[in-house]
Amino acid sequence: MQNFFRRTILLIVGLAIPLLFACQSSPQVDASPAVSSGLSAAPAKLDPLPYDYAALEPYIDAATMRLHHDKHHATYVNNINEALKAYPDLQKQSVDTMIRNLNNVPEAIRTKIQNNGGGHVNHTMFWQIMAPKAGGEPTGAVAQAITQTFGSFDALKQQFNKAGADRFGSGWAWLVSDRQGKLSITSTANQDNPLMKDPNAYPILGNDVWEHAYYLKYQNRRAEYLNNWWNVVNWQAVNQRYAQAQEK
Ligand code: MN
Repeated sequence: MQNFFRRTILLIVGLAIPLLFACQSSPQVDASPAVSSGLSAAPAKLDPLPYDYAALEPYIDAATMRLHHDKHHATYVNNINEALKAYPDLQKQSVDTMIRNLNNVPEAIRTKIQNNGGGHVNHTMFWQIMAPKAGGEPTGAVAQAITQTFGSFDALKQQFNKAGADRFGSGWAWLVSDRQGKLSITSTANQDNPLMKDPNAYPILGNDVWEHAYYLKYQNRRAEYLNNWWNVVNWQAVNQRYAQAQEK
């Protein structure tokens, strides 16, 4: 009987000690580096897609999503980390801050941060403002602002799609908001973000018109891709960004 008790106590102690260590070494709530908001650059990280690769079918195919996220976006992230290797001080800034203040980035890596920092910020937004079983009419405050500015959702789509179709080569079409909540449509080349030129042009919605975003499924038919893309727009996320634009 004494043996039994001894064994039981040993068993309890044996179980409790590793458990205690496990609790102590569990991740801290705020383990993020010295970046208060935005995308960390210490190091830059690729988050997984917020849904399955096939979730946006039939409008965007799984093969395109896989390549686009796992290869193209991953490359931008890797290039940021490569470029920042020799600049530990810069890693304390968020990527968002860097692309808003490109003149503060050392000239030797400025173009790399413009292209790859822009690519990281743009694609992070892109995955978030799309969702499965989404699309349809805009909702919330942004719906009202769209009607006020463009007259109707159809008119917005027409102007936005034209901005995407007219972008020669690679780039993005954008719906941006200023701090007062006023909307406008713009387009940028390459991975430029509207905030690089105008700190008061916060992108709340953007469509990637690089061929890598649509060519596997749509080949040269960019206009068809632009039309279909509205079926995956996540208006809830767009409304969140619209509110953020007015907080800044
Ligand atoms: Mn892309």
